[in-house]
Amino acid sequence: MTRPLVGVLALQGDVREHLAALNDSGADAIGIRRPEELEKVDGIVLPGGESTTMSKLLEIFELLDPLRDRLADGLPAYGSCAGMILLASEVLDTRPDAKHLNAIDMTVRRNAFGRQVDSFESDLDFAGIDGDPVRAVFIRAPWVERVGDDVEVLARVPHSAGAAADRIVAVRQGSVVATSFHPEVTGDRRVHELFVDMVHERS
Ligand code: GLN
Repeated sequence: MTRPLVGVLALQGDVREHLAALNDSGADAIGIRRPEELEKVDGIVLPGGESTTMSKLLEIFELLDPLRDRLADGLPAYGSCAGMILLASEVLDTRPDAKHLNAIDMTVRRNAFGRQVDSFESDLDFAGIDGDPVRAVFIRAPWVERVGDDVEVLARVPHSAGAAADRIVAVRQGSVVATSFHPEVTGDRRVHELFVDMVHERS
């Protein structure tokens, strides 16, 4: 199978980890900083980082509208953590001037897990990923509070996780997938492989 070309939005955040995860998962990966780079990719990853900063940089680098256009045309996308926030249609607890991309019909709450548990790890069942549970690393993560009818819930926080139990942390709508957590830091490539499969399906 040919290797699709997948971009990683490279304005801010954990870009290198996603480039490595994509390369391990059967894609050629490039960082995206300019509209010309965005034009040639078969899919895009929006990394973890800080969503309001990324939103500002998307405007400064004149990528916000081109990215919205490509997503509206069906460009496959995967957003992790801050990337999930950017893909949402509605964001709670963000800055009033922060922009998002409306690629998944969902309401996301930023920093939802609260100050006590800024970061934690958990094992999740993930729809479409067989075998061992997925180790999820949450770092000042969002969760999903509402999904539209066309959105498939892929993973929730397990019951054992206390106050956050059952919160939605992975979703898919068409060719767009998002996780609250960071599979790019664990060495388990199955979420990126799932995304690369979605890119193949689409192209
Ligand atoms: N809290 C960050 C934000 O609001 C997301 C954290 C992350 O990507 N690890 O954008």
